[in-house]
This record gives sequence, structure tokens and C-alpha cells, in this order.
Amino acid sequence: MTYNWFVSASYFAVAVVFILGLKAMASPVTARKGIVWAGFAMVAATVVTFFIPELQNIGLIVLAIVLGGGAAWYTGKTVKMTDMPQMVAIYNGMGGGAAAAIAAVELVKGVDHGAVTSTLLVLGAIIGSVAFSGSCVAYAKLQGLMNKAIKIPQQNTVNFFLTMLTFGIGLTIGYADSPSGFEIFLFFALALALGAVLVLPIGGADMPVVISLLNAFTGLAVGFKGFVLGNPALIVAGIVVGASGMLLTQLMAKAMNRPLKNIIFKPITGEAAEGGAEVEGTMRELTPLDAAAVMRYASKVVIVPGYGMAVAGAQHKVWEMAQLLEEGGVEVVFAIHPVAGRMPGHMNVLLAEAGVPYDKIFDLEEINADFAQADVALVIGANDVVNPVARTDKSSPIYGMPILNADMAHNVIVVKRGKGAGYSGIENALFYKDNCRMLYGSAQQAIGEVITHVKALEA
Ligand code: NDP
Repeated sequence: MTYNWFVSASYFAVAVVFILGLKAMASPVTARKGIVWAGFAMVAATVVTFFIPELQNIGLIVLAIVLGGGAAWYTGKTVKMTDMPQMVAIYNGMGGGAAAAIAAVELVKGVDHGAVTSTLLVLGAIIGSVAFSGSCVAYAKLQGLMNKAIKIPQQNTVNFFLTMLTFGIGLTIGYADSPSGFEIFLFFALALALGAVLVLPIGGADMPVVISLLNAFTGLAVGFKGFVLGNPALIVAGIVVGASGMLLTQLMAKAMNRPLKNIIFKPITGEAAEGGAEVEGTMRELTPLDAAAVMRYASKVVIVPGYGMAVAGAQHKVWEMAQLLEEGGVEVVFAIHPVAGRMPGHMNVLLAEAGVPYDKIFDLEEINADFAQADVALVIGANDVVNPVARTDKSSPIYGMPILNADMAHNVIVVKRGKGAGYSGIENALFYKDNCRMLYGSAQQAIGEVITHVKALEA
């Protein structure tokens, strides 16, 4: 396609705004602004595309925008904060699917693109299809529609042959003058199966990294499609998403101390057979009144929020309790593990929504040394991210994953509903330690009761 100067200049401006938006997203203070800029750039890129003189099927394009935009607007407005990871997974899959669909159209048209572009076309088709079906499986798992981990016999052999077969057929049809409809169908069926087969066995604590990796795949697929179509906005947007997704994947894999190859080839499924010594001892309970007293007369309390706080929507109550304690002279800070919750940044967003100032929120590296000086570590609906077996038990599947050292505080109070395991399905040794007490109940209700008692102690 050829672009006039207006379209080319606009695409360039859009690319610059995408990059600025991404830069702004790096800090919670400017993240909201960054999202708005990037969204604005996306709308501008879409509108400008209508000024391309050769554009065809305008009615169908408008219909797709109305249907897709309407569905996205509605789901974006109504999604619950706890369902955000599923939403990210499915949106991501849509991007990969769109890139694969563009490749399908080009293959059906049978246009001779030349060697380099044909290779990018096939690569984009495979990566986009893998991102689409992989994201659909990830969505089904996060939504609870499917088992977290589904084992396939001879998994790695199946992966290897499926990958080889898909690439083989892809390159054959990519260089063919006019591939048959059956060949194209077979190629996409294999590429889609590859995405599903790769993600099916992955469960437990590995899901965040997989979603991030699929996100990077979608970016790459879109970037490759940009080359095929000669569209600079797609190239820049795709490369920005691909590169940032890849960096995020590496950061998260590092945060969990799990090399990417282990995540794909040796995933944690959460089954007991996978190893880990038996945890011995009993869990001891304390009442909301005791919890209130321990914290009210403490000097320093470190709060560790986790997925359970998000499900319970307890962030407002937690902040109310923290403010009450601060009024009584207690220092209260929040410790966030990089993979706490169900998506990166999940806890930061929830706490910011409740009004917790950014200077009270600390990352793992910043806070870990402070636990030893804290009178109380209050763990609210968090589990895997405070499991000390990651430090101590070499046979545990999460051995080596950096954790928040909540167990090192003088007292640990854990708020959870019962004996439920964390997302990885592994027993938590912290709950059995001598300095740990369990405050059973849903986070919202349990913290509400603690608030009542703290107020009574003040009176
Ligand atoms: P976990 O999933 O490990 O644990 C959450 C705990 O919350 C459970 O043990 C559960 O126990 C408790 N809980 C559930 N509902 C409530 C409630 N209403 N009130 C109080 N407690 C509740 O959460 P973490 O945040 O510690 O760890 C995140 C895990 O999820 C990590 O393994 C991470 O790798 C993984 N993960 C992370 C993603 C990411 O991108 N950050 C994405 C996907 C997974 P009980 O049932 O007894 O109440």
C-alpha cells in the first residue's frame, strides 16, 4: 500500500506518542497518563488509516470497529479488578489472532512478497496463531473453566515435532506461488494446536510469565505483519509491545527465579508428586481482638497483600485499618512481591485505588531487609509469595523463587479463609511456624473486625 504525506506523517507522530505513553507507564504516578496517550495514539492511527486512498471494504472495516470497540468498551467498563488477568489474556489473544488473520489473507491472495517478506509472513502467522490459541487456553485456566495444568504424554517430544511440522509446512506454502486452501488450513490448524499444546501443561505459579510471553509474541506477530503490509504504525506498535513484553517476561522469570526454558519445558503443575518435603506442625489461630492488640501496640507493621485481598476487595478496609494504626503512632508500610496477585502490578493498582500513597508501597528488594525489624508482618490473602520453603527446601518446585521474608518478623498474622493452598498448590511452611498465627475469615470481614477492635482500644 502507498501512503500520502499526511498518513505517513501521522503514523510517525502516532509512533512517537506510543513510545512516550509506554515510558509514562513505567511509574505508577504517570501510568494513567501513559495509558490515555497510548489509547489516543491508537484511535488516531485507526482514523488516519481511512485516509489511505486505496482502502477497500470500508463498510466492513467500520462494522468490525463498531462490534469490536463496543464489546471492548462494555467489558472494559464492567470487568472486576480480580478478573483483569483473564481480560488481558483474551485481549492479547485477539491481537495475535488479528495478525494471523492478516497472514491468512495474504497467503490466500497468493501475492509474491519476495524471500524476506514471505519468511516474516509465515513467522508472523505462526507466532500470531500460537499467541491466539495459547491466550485462549490461558483465559480458560484463569477463568476457572479448565484445570490449571493438563499433562500431555511425551509433552516435549510432541512440542518438538509439532513445531517442526508447522514451520516446515509454513515455509513450503510461504514460498509457493499459490498454495491450496487445504495447505493453508492445515498450516493454521497446526499453528493453533501448537499454541494450545504449549500452554495446556502450564499451571500454578508459572502462568504470569506465560501470559507475558504470549503478549510479547503478539507484539512480534503484529510487527511482522507491519513489514508485510509496509505499515509503519503496525511495525512500531508491534516492536514496542514485543520488546517490552520480552523484557517483562525476563523480569518476571527472574522474580520467580525460573529460567524461561524451565517454565515451558518443566512447568510447575502444583501436584504433590512434584516434590517438596512434607510440612509438619499445626496452625495456631488468633482472634480479631488479639490481632488488633498486637498491631495497635507495635512500632512497625508490614502489610503483605496477595490475591485473597483482591478477591475479597478488601483494599479499602486494609487502608482504613492502616490509617487507624498510624494515628496511634504505628509505622505501617506495604510490601509487594513482583508476582503477588494474578498479574504484574495487580497489588499496586488495588492499593493505589484505595488511596494508599506510593511512598508507603515497597518492592521486594526495598523491603525484605526490614522484616527482621518489624513487630508484625500482616499477610492478607497472600500465600506463595511468603512461602519460606522457596529459601529452605531444595526439593520444592518453588525453591529459589525470591519471597517476601514475612517469616522473619517478630510476629506474623495471616488472614485467610481456611486451609486453601496458594495458586501454585504448594503447602506453606510459614503458617506452621512458632511466630505465626492465623486469623481465619474473608479478608474484608476479618479486617473489618480488626478495625472495630482497634477503635475500641483507642477509646
Ligand atoms: P496465592 O494465590 O498464592 O494465595 C492466595 C491465598 O488467598 C490463598 O491461599 C487463599 O487461601 C487466600 N484467599 C482466597 N480468597 C480469600 C479471601 N476472600 N479472603 C482472604 N483470603 C483469601 O496468592 P499470592 O498473591 O501470594 O501469590 C500469587 C501466586 O499466583 C503466585 O504463585 C504467582 O506466581 C501466581 N500467579 C501470579 C500471576 C501474576 O502475574 N502476578 C498470574 C497468575 C498466577 P484460602 O482459600 O484459605 O482463603
